[in-house]
Amino acid sequence: MKKFKTESQKLLDLMINSIYTNREIFLRELVSNASDAVDKLYFASLTDSDIQLNRADLRILVSFDADARTVTVSDNGIGMTQDQLDKNLGTIAHSDSMAFKADNAERQGDDVDIIGQFGVGFYSAFMVAKKVRVVSRAFGSDEAWAWESNGVDGYTIEPAARDEHGTDVVLTLKDNTDDESFDEFLTEYGLKNLIKRYSNYVRYPIQMEVTKTREVLKPEVIGEEGDTEDTPASPEYETYAELDTINSMIPIWKRQKSEVTPEEYAEFYKADFHDFADPAATFSIHAEGALSYDALLFIPSRAPYDLYSKDFKKGLALYSSNVLIMEKCEELLPDHYNFVRGVVDSQDLTLNISRETLQHNSQLRAIAKRIEKKVTSELKKMLENDRDTYETFFQNFGRGLEFGIYHSYGALKSELSDLLLFWSAKQKKRVTFAEYVAAKEEGQTAIYYAVGETVERLEKMPVVKAVLSRGYDVLLCTQDVDEFCFQTMMNYGEGDDALALKNVAGGDLDLATEDEKAAAEAVTKENADLFAAMKEALGDAVSDVAVSSRLTDEPAALTAAGPVSLEMERILSQMPD
Ligand code: ADP
Ligand code: MG
Repeated sequence: MKKFKTESQKLLDLMINSIYTNREIFLRELVSNASDAVDKLYFASLTDSDIQLNRADLRILVSFDADARTVTVSDNGIGMTQDQLDKNLGTIAHSDSMAFKADNAERQGDDVDIIGQFGVGFYSAFMVAKKVRVVSRAFGSDEAWAWESNGVDGYTIEPAARDEHGTDVVLTLKDNTDDESFDEFLTEYGLKNLIKRYSNYVRYPIQMEVTKTREVLKPEVIGEEGDTEDTPASPEYETYAELDTINSMIPIWKRQKSEVTPEEYAEFYKADFHDFADPAATFSIHAEGALSYDALLFIPSRAPYDLYSKDFKKGLALYSSNVLIMEKCEELLPDHYNFVRGVVDSQDLTLNISRETLQHNSQLRAIAKRIEKKVTSELKKMLENDRDTYETFFQNFGRGLEFGIYHSYGALKSELSDLLLFWSAKQKKRVTFAEYVAAKEEGQTAIYYAVGETVERLEKMPVVKAVLSRGYDVLLCTQDVDEFCFQTMMNYGEGDDALALKNVAGGDLDLATEDEKAAAEAVTKENADLFAAMKEALGDAVSDVAVSSRLTDEPAALTAAGPVSLEMERILSQMPD
């Protein structure tokens, strides 16, 4: 028996116990290796005319034996010689695939796509297996060899038999304990699920023998005398086994956009992101260059029920060379676009050995930036070309955009403010800031808004009526975040054209003409004693009593003196400390 190198031994322990956080990924790693082995053979056939190969025969086979507690991953790829078994599986972190990649960096066009690059994926098998046996026959050789290890003591390599080139990796699963069961990997359902989940887009067929049921056609029985003739024969069923391809192979995001129908995109969205409604928008990014990647993104047509709860997790599915790395990669989406669903696939991401944490976040940041820009431009497009869809979108997700402005202290104002909609008291529909400004009165120097619980109530507010009576529109805001967003923005527009955002309930409206101001001042002077008496009577409840020139029909109104409006005070007072 050969011992693993000491470093290997330590690394093996470390890896089994801590690097991989999720034991079920062992199958993904073994399937990825099988796919790499098939790819290497295919690549060799491209460059060596002596190798006659039918690409359609290349495949990966997954099977299990519940009684023997084994799971087997077989491939008819390039296989390994005795020497290669020793070198590739005897030394942890020795990745032949990495060397292959480097050797063929230039020649390797789109046709070859090696997944492995870290040299520890194979050992993830020991998270679930007490024994691993690898039987392999290298292409072009007539010898087969078996490598075997229990992961702890070392490994043996002995002659074996195999009909064809390729490799079988046979795992004998660990025994169940009180805390842990491995039985899920000994079911058709369990294995199929894992293949679909992690390896759905591996480019070679991953096949499994599955049990199916079919109706048996019984030969018609000619009724004898006395038989109840009109009792219909009950159908009989039998089960049979059939080899099925489990993975769908070509990822939809790698297909030419022009070749995919909107229905196919919608089906993919619904199946992969568990929604029953079609997406409101679908778009993609194809980037080539220093960092190549594909992204396929969706805006849902309805908000998930937990969107605004603490449990909601944003993120995009992250694939590296068609293999799922992470179901929800948070770093790819800013908070204000947390509703976006989709997939990012890049073969250029530098992943660390566990594949579960990413080594260089700068690559992710670059992708995230591009995605954010793309979402913004797609939303603008929707706003311009498909107003109804956009209004529904905004009802679902608009609150998040406003929070984006508020939480960024206004840094996102220029990106997001043109995506906001508010109810216009004058136009009786939702408008953007730009539309408000385009319809404003000559000489109007501010954008007016009012905040309250319902549009109906706001319309009745004296201060709203007063502003409207001057011909100025008022945005009626009913969401808790509206006022925080307005206060953060302070104004809308660029440079000299910027208009202040003013709460009609605030103390600094300054709508009065010079004449009106003079009149108010005169009245104030005349009644100075009366106001002093009123103020004294109201005590701490008010900070001042003054003549107003902003009222129309109503005799009096309450306004807030400071930057915080009455409505905002109400919201703030409801917040937990
Ligand atoms: P990686 O795939 O990142 O290179 P692994 O630990 O997964 O690292 O595998 C180590 C090496 O073992 C691979 O680089 C490859 O050379 C070899 N290997 C593993 N599985 C197979 C297989 N099914 N067929 C041929 N070679 C394999
Ligand atoms: Mg690997």
